Amino acid sequence: MGKGKFPVEKLQAIQTPFYYYDAEVLRQTLRTINEEAGKYEGFVVHYAIKANANPKILRIIREAGMGADCVSGGEIEASIKSGFPNNKIVYAGVGKADWEINLGLDNDIFCFNVESIPELEVINELAAAKGKVARVAFRLNPNVGAHTHANITTGLAENKFGIAMRDMLDVIEEAEKLANIRFVGLHFHIGSQILDMGDFEALCNRVNELQNILDSHRIRVEHINVGGGLGVDYAHPNRLPIPDFKAYFSTYAKKLKLRPGQTLHFELGRAMVAQCGSLITRTLYIKKGAVKKFAIVDAGFPDLIRPALYQAYHKIENITSEEPNDTYDVVGPICESTDVFAKQIDLNGTRRGDLLAIRSAGAYGEIMASQYNCRKLPIGYMSDDL
Ligand SMILES: *Cc1c(COP(=O)(O)O)cnc(C)c1O
Repeated sequence: MGKGKFPVEKLQAIQTPFYYYDAEVLRQTLRTINEEAGKYEGFVVHYAIKANANPKILRIIREAGMGADCVSGGEIEASIKSGFPNNKIVYAGVGKADWEINLGLDNDIFCFNVESIPELEVINELAAAKGKVARVAFRLNPNVGAHTHANITTGLAENKFGIAMRDMLDVIEEAEKLANIRFVGLHFHIGSQILDMGDFEALCNRVNELQNILDSHRIRVEHINVGGGLGVDYAHPNRLPIPDFKAYFSTYAKKLKLRPGQTLHFELGRAMVAQCGSLITRTLYIKKGAVKKFAIVDAGFPDLIRPALYQAYHKIENITSEEPNDTYDVVGPICESTDVFAKQIDLNGTRRGDLLAIRSAGAYGEIMASQYNCRKLPIGYMSDDL
């Protein structure tokens, strides 16, 4: 059973729990994305800030030339602060508040991804008040299912996201009546942790159908944005640290029929940052229960909520023990039965004081941390800085 590479002595000196980010894994991931997306004319990649907004992560991603995909005013602020160019910032969300829209307008962002007519009208009003014209794409709900956890599918007709396809022409017509709106694109996002390229292919087919309808009405958009959603291999962070970007981008290149001059935008979150991060936690106690052994650690669901929230699997390694394997439930200190990181997993023989690495935690980890139980938020350290 191979383990990840960790600078164990340096990590020993840091107060646990904390996030550790391997800058080399992140840079390699970004290089692969640029290489694979770069094979195709007009492909533009954004980073979905919501996966991880640690400034050190944002800086490396911005340096790789990615745009930013934001879902709140706070994320627009974070991306600007980290130096993402305004004209590479897109902003989506079902519930944009006025101050958030104003922030986007003041910064002349690339595009608002709009999810309803009432929202469109508010953006028009706020843009008029500033004497500006807002660039707008409509987020359509493609009614394409993704074979992933029910809580993270977003592209089904029953989900709250997006505008129904049958309303597409009406909303475009509405946009064309509004003086301070410029309609420039179509936006989609079908879910997260998607590993079946057939799901993205289904989205491509849908986009092609919708573009055919637009053609028949002589409507031409500047860009198509297909969102994010590419998954990672949580079971094999060492063997397969880089997601299959080749298959991902080539699926879109083969299946989605762009019109001349159109750009195709992607908003990858998880696939960019999940594998570079680990939550490092210290073993407090080994407790022998009636039927099993518990490794009680100092991290809990306030530090990494995915297992409690989605029953998500994260591989766990004891990075300070080479002893023969034993079987443990790895649990946190919080007074909730869901505060469990893994049940009945094999770890090298574990004792009080051992460091465990909870792997593939770079996405939706640190950023979702809370202070529940008056705990301190975990700090994220970049390998470059240790
Ligand atoms: C969450 C989200 C993404 C990123 O999803 P990943 O699964 O992390 O790639 C992209 N676009 C939108 C609109 C989102 O809400």
